[in-house]
Amino acid sequence: MKGKVIILVAPSGAGKTTLAKRLFKDFDDLKFSVSATTRPPREGEENGIHYHFLSDEEFQARIDENDFLEWEEFYGGKRYGTLQSEVDKSLKLGYFVLLDIEVKGAVNINEIYGDECLSIFVQPPSLEVLKQRLIARGTENEETLALRLERAKEELTYADRFDRVIINDDLETAYSQIKQAVLEFMNSN
Ligand code: ADP
Ligand code: 5GP
Repeated sequence: MKGKVIILVAPSGAGKTTLAKRLFKDFDDLKFSVSATTRPPREGEENGIHYHFLSDEEFQARIDENDFLEWEEFYGGKRYGTLQSEVDKSLKLGYFVLLDIEVKGAVNINEIYGDECLSIFVQPPSLEVLKQRLIARGTENEETLALRLERAKEELTYADRFDRVIINDDLETAYSQIKQAVLEFMNSN
């Protein structure tokens, strides 16, 4: 099924979740695609709402069933993937679907949906700011922080593969730019 997909893509800690929450408040016809992951839930995260938290075996079974539009493995063996059923469920009901995924997955989704997809790269003002945000979020230990920062360096080189690049320095400024881009995309469909 084609159409009406919006991707927020960025290195971990750049602000996708924060910006996505604002979009959901402003756009009733936007639905979140709940990804599957093998990483453990963080405090406050609920199964089926933030992610479908799967064991390695369960994730592998979904791969074998061809259930993923895309999936990637990173951060020392953790797997993350977009379920075709999640996206189709919302598209069938006529909603726009928002994906919060990393760069390689986003490139793949962009290829699948083509012009029917708006991809927005959320860029942190600098790697140092990204590090400070990840530390302030309080979700990483020394090892996972280092893994995320290492990966971020590579991810930042992908920015020009996406439709829009928005720098998330001042949150209000970044959000108003994203909102504008989303409005234009929705109205062009
Ligand atoms: P992501 O979903 O991309 O991993 P988050 O939305 O969790 O990122 O943001 C990482 C941290 O940075 C959070 O603690 C969030 O409150 C904070 N943050 C997000 N955007 C900004 C901003 N523009 N200025 C300052 N802090 C921000
Ligand atoms: P976190 O562990 O912080 O929730 O997410 C880590 C990274 O995985 C983020 O950049 C997030 O966007 C990405 N991610 C989440 N779900 C998916 C997915 O389904 N596919 C891909 N490729 N990346 C995902």
